[in-house]
Amino acid sequence: MEPRYARHTPTRHPLCPRYDIRETPMEAHGRTPTRRALLRSGAYLATAATGLAATAATATTAHADDRRRRRAAAAYPPTHWIPASTSNYRVSSRPTSYPIDFIVIHVTQETFPDAMKIFQDPAKQVSAHYMVASADGYIGQFVREKDVAWHAGNKDYNNRSIGIEHEGWVDDAKWFTDAMYASSAALTAAVCDRYGIPKNRDHIIGHVEVPGADHTDPGPLWDWDRYMRLVNGGSRVRRGV
Ligand SMILES: [Zn+2]
Repeated sequence: MEPRYARHTPTRHPLCPRYDIRETPMEAHGRTPTRRALLRSGAYLATAATGLAATAATATTAHADDRRRRRAAAAYPPTHWIPASTSNYRVSSRPTSYPIDFIVIHVTQETFPDAMKIFQDPAKQVSAHYMVASADGYIGQFVREKDVAWHAGNKDYNNRSIGIEHEGWVDDAKWFTDAMYASSAALTAAVCDRYGIPKNRDHIIGHVEVPGADHTDPGPLWDWDRYMRLVNGGSRVRRGV
């Protein structure tokens, strides 16, 4: 299958000088069906098997679902594949092996390059699926979404979540730039759409909200109201304020 972003000019980015950077299509082309989509197609087949013709309403719904899926896939921001050490995550086959129910928001307490080195160091035993750079919202992907990254400090939450790191420090809001919020929110929205994760604070949580977490990130300076507005298509809302 032709990768969605293959036609774009490959981006060279100073954060990742050691890699031949390409905009990875691996999570963007929507080939992995959501559990909900599987259920939907199963229900459709069951209906067909009973000899009932698909009604116009069903066809319309299916078309609307297709359109929604295409829009969601199109909204997926460019990501750049910078693989973590294979010692720092667990290979899995989500969402079949575990449902993906949560997005966990982190702040690195490191620069992007330093955090990247940590993810690539087999001794560290930590990783995240994504990391967003402060200056321009550049997104690195370190672990496939199907695999379990080690970011939440809670096995159950690791199994069922996508971890997104943000470059910066919890006590210094200047790291949390417009570009970072916008880029991260687009990523979170696209991930939510693909797995049917509700775009609310019960499912998009801070590391600090993971049960048993001894981390405080993203911290009180992370603007959750703004972030959730952006995740939910916020520019319209912002113009009205
Ligand atoms: Zn964290």
